[in-house]
Amino acid sequence: MKYAKVNGKKVEAKPKLRGICTNCSQEMVAKCGRVKIWHWAHKSRLHCDPWWESETEWHRNWKNNFPVEWQEISHKDKASNERHIADVKTSHGLVLEFQHSLISPAEVESREQFYGNLIWIVDGNRSELDKGHFNLGLSGPIQKDPLAYQISWYGRSRLLQNWAESKVMVYLDFGDEILWRLVLYNSQKKTGAVGPLSKKAFIEDCLNGYPIRVSKLEE
Ligand SMILES: [Zn+2]
Repeated sequence: MKYAKVNGKKVEAKPKLRGICTNCSQEMVAKCGRVKIWHWAHKSRLHCDPWWESETEWHRNWKNNFPVEWQEISHKDKASNERHIADVKTSHGLVLEFQHSLISPAEVESREQFYGNLIWIVDGNRSELDKGHFNLGLSGPIQKDPLAYQISWYGRSRLLQNWAESKVMVYLDFGDEILWRLVLYNSQKKTGAVGPLSKKAFIEDCLNGYPIRVSKLEE
């Protein structure tokens, strides 16, 4: 994790620092090596949140767009007492999950149920070939307002398929200034629609608590 509590404050990992987990209150140690990004790890056991994935530079760059108070927020389901750590939870109640590793449609669904007001940002550069396939499959536009392009998927990966059944907004991030919202996707036909939005506009709307805007093509 990026943060642990040290003397009651959320602090980033530094060599030899000890802290407390913001989710389960267990002891944490700072891991500050040369291979993995500097992070906090639970001292005595596995991570308290089975949904947690080890962080990449990509996760950190996304989190850094938002205030510290919004990052790594422990979220508890009142009925089940289940706890998970939201990557970002805004003061307006919106949860942002930055997903690098592949997760199954069943996992997608259970997290959406748990968080409710959730938006996924998916790392499109996890697999080397996906960005090329995405650009190859883009055609259109097929709609001007909101602006949408057709996407035909020629890749072998399940990048789009795994998100086809999501009930919340899913944005693909290929590391450019533009995010692509997966508007719809038919896994049998391997075609769907995607809408572009600048990363800057997306972040602004999240910060302000506005509905995420859509792009339009001017006449
Ligand atoms: Zn913990």
